[in-house]
Amino acid sequence: MPGLLSGAGEYCLRLTRLFLLTTCVLLTLVSVMLVRSVMQEWNTVSAALRGLRAMELTALAMTIAEKASFERGPSIAAMGDTDAPTPALQERLAKARTVSDAAFDAALKALEHSARDEHRAAIAQIEKARSELAQARQKVSRIAALPHAERTAPGTRFTREPIDQMFGVVDIALEAVTILSADAERVYPELTQPLVGARLAAELREYAGRLGSQFTSPIGARQPLGIQERRDIPRIIGRIEELRHLIEVQARANAADARVAAAIGEMKSRYFGIGLPFINSLTVAGEAGGDYGMNLPEFVARYVPEMASIVTLRETMFETARTGAAASIAKARHNLHINAAIGVLVLMIEISVFLLIRWRVLMPLLASTKAVVAIAAGKLDAPLRVTTRTDEIGDMQRAVNELRHTSAEKQRLEREREQLIEKLQLHSSTDFLTNLLNRRAFTERVAQQLAIARRSNWPVSLIMFDLDHFKRVNDRYGHASGDIVLAGVAEIASREFRAADTLARHGGEEFIALLVNCGEADARAFAERLRESIAAAKFAAEDGTEITITASFGIASAPSSAVNDFNAFSNAADQALYRAKNQGRNCVVSGVA
Ligand code: GH3
Ligand code: MG
Ligand code: MG
Repeated sequence: MPGLLSGAGEYCLRLTRLFLLTTCVLLTLVSVMLVRSVMQEWNTVSAALRGLRAMELTALAMTIAEKASFERGPSIAAMGDTDAPTPALQERLAKARTVSDAAFDAALKALEHSARDEHRAAIAQIEKARSELAQARQKVSRIAALPHAERTAPGTRFTREPIDQMFGVVDIALEAVTILSADAERVYPELTQPLVGARLAAELREYAGRLGSQFTSPIGARQPLGIQERRDIPRIIGRIEELRHLIEVQARANAADARVAAAIGEMKSRYFGIGLPFINSLTVAGEAGGDYGMNLPEFVARYVPEMASIVTLRETMFETARTGAAASIAKARHNLHINAAIGVLVLMIEISVFLLIRWRVLMPLLASTKAVVAIAAGKLDAPLRVTTRTDEIGDMQRAVNELRHTSAEKQRLEREREQLIEKLQLHSSTDFLTNLLNRRAFTERVAQQLAIARRSNWPVSLIMFDLDHFKRVNDRYGHASGDIVLAGVAEIASREFRAADTLARHGGEEFIALLVNCGEADARAFAERLRESIAAAKFAAEDGTEITITASFGIASAPSSAVNDFNAFSNAADQALYRAKNQGRNCVVSGVA
């Protein structure tokens, strides 16, 4: 019966372990899904953050290009100044240089700790631009220190060299812009459109500056446009128109933000509506003979402010990229929180469901299984703890307990029946008063004993004994006292005989015993000893009076093979007893079988 449970365990997973395994697998799957979705949102957030940082670096590099471009105006003005330097011009130049330096410092500081290849490349470009600018500044200072007449004598032109070098500085800075914006686009592709737009605007601002630079020397020297300027101006204007077209196409294609559209409108009305027509009129004057109707500071004061709208456009594009990225960061963060919350909720529900199933189904089921197995094994003493719930499990548990109860009841009845049968058997073969075998049981046992004795070829003896004058005991002390004496004699006799001997109450106050493997002499010795024991015994009557009694003994002995008729054997013993009575009682007489 124990195999009922343990045997199954060797072949298949136990229910508890299977349940645990399933739970773990499901929890792991849900956790993986959860972690994946959280990671995805987290990646969006971190890509947008990194993209934004890369974009800010791009903006810093663009500022270098813008400020270096801006420095050209005051540099040209300083080189065209009078011998006694004009403080306003000096101050403008110093301020422009400070602003450029600050732009360089800001970009290099933002990049200084980065070990990334793109950043190292950008730093190299920025440092190169800075050293080019330093050289150009030295040349500007040297030229500005020459006598005014030398710089502005008719036909002479102060050298374009530092200015060309400053154009180069902007080109180098724009290289850094390209490197950094490519990096930003790679990290966060959503930034591509606004960065391309901003890059175009930065280039447009540079070309607008270069266009203005074409006039600074002729206006400063009050000379017509030179061959080179006449060739460069249409080319630069062509590029400017081209860039404007690209910016507009790009904005249209990407359904640009309303702020960008407004900035483009502002640029068209300010730079293309005022700045560029102003340049066209100056070109006509420059080609006609060099009467521009203004000096250099006046030119700068009219042209430079119109370029501001281009810078505004560039900054607006950055701003829209920034707000777009910030919005997607906020959205991803929001999703992150929602996903995490849903995930935790799902996990909690899952764990609760598993615990509930374990508590309400699995554990009661296992307990019931154990109880049923115990019932099957007949162990009915441990009751199953039954739930008070009215669900199916509760029904099953109650049924199991009912089963245990009825099985216990059945077991009890069975035991009672067995005891009853045992008692009946005992009663049918035992004398009620003396607890010795009765006559019927004696006859049965004698047949068996004789068969055993015959197989071993033993001698057998039969002893019959009868209490002497027993009637008198009854008469004198009462029937109940007679019973006491009968039971007492039976006890003495039971003690005296061997286990193999068969002792019985033959009827009334007469007893009989069959002794196997016992010849006449031994039987006589037995009988004598018993006779003496009975005679020596003292029994207490009901009223406490002492009673003594004697018994007469008759013995028949024979080899077992000779005992074919037990009745005849028994009669021989009976006759010997009869003789013993006649010889005066309280004696042993042995007869011949
Ligand atoms: P004797 O020495 O010749 O055997 O005389 P006795 O009185 O013993 O013999 P008798 O046959 O005259 O009397 C036997 C008495 O034993 C009669 C009967 O009432 C009594 N007796 C028989 N069975 C029982 C019993 O179970 N209990 C009691 N108390 N007396 C019994
Ligand atoms: Mg008698
Ligand atoms: Mg008698």
